[in-house]
Amino acid sequence: MKRLFCTILTALLLAGPCLAEEFGMPAWEYPLEPEILENKSGYITLVNRDHLLDSTYVPDDLVTISARHIYAIKGDKLRKAAMQAMNRMFAAAEADGQVLYLKSVYRAYSTQSYMYNNRLNNVGRDDGVVAYPGSSDHQTGLGADILNLEWTKKSGMTPAFGATSEAQWMEAHCAEYGFIIRYMEDKEAITGIIYEPWHLRYVGVEAAQYIMGHHLSLEEFDEEWHAYIADWEARGGNFRELLRLRAIPEPAQVLYTTDEGEEEVSLFN
Ligand SMILES: [Zn+2]
Repeated sequence: MKRLFCTILTALLLAGPCLAEEFGMPAWEYPLEPEILENKSGYITLVNRDHLLDSTYVPDDLVTISARHIYAIKGDKLRKAAMQAMNRMFAAAEADGQVLYLKSVYRAYSTQSYMYNNRLNNVGRDDGVVAYPGSSDHQTGLGADILNLEWTKKSGMTPAFGATSEAQWMEAHCAEYGFIIRYMEDKEAITGIIYEPWHLRYVGVEAAQYIMGHHLSLEEFDEEWHAYIADWEARGGNFRELLRLRAIPEPAQVLYTTDEGEEEVSLFN
């Protein structure tokens, strides 16, 4: 008598590589999966002077910060995934002898607007020190300023922070936790912002490793992947349709293994 072992295998298409050809579309050759570029989470959202966030935009998954913080202002927040990743990064840095401190985190539109207008009144012009309301990476809830102990005692931040071991550790390891250096030293002409070795932005691990691995600004990455999709669609692809098809899970399967080692795979209806 045959004994049957039954295992239900639920294979999600999402777990595998993107096989756009299966859907009659051109091969998907971009190094990141389409779901990352779909950006449902908002993790790769580009925010700058040309890409403003709405004054009403408030992330819906902000959590109170739980990492080492200089001011410990009650109610300071970051988006949940960014906060969790930051805690992992802080622990890893500390294990390597690099003690990090959070400074600025999520900033509401109204706060940014107040800061901007204050600066404008004091200096008499927009000198680029305070970001225009809606253009701040801090409004995403994914951007944070991180310093070492020495720099927490200074009144301001300058690119010289980049020479510290903590900043160098962050540049070398932040992508492993899903962060990028948002404003790089040689990208000032593209970002419009000075080198800010302290400003990290959460984009998710896959995107971060690609962006940092290719030394891109978020602006260059954004332009690159939009151009890839435009070209891929011009060759017959349909991005929305690809995402829809990939979101349909494969039917669960039942795998029978007999004691003779035979296998039968049948659809589980
Ligand atoms: Zn910042």
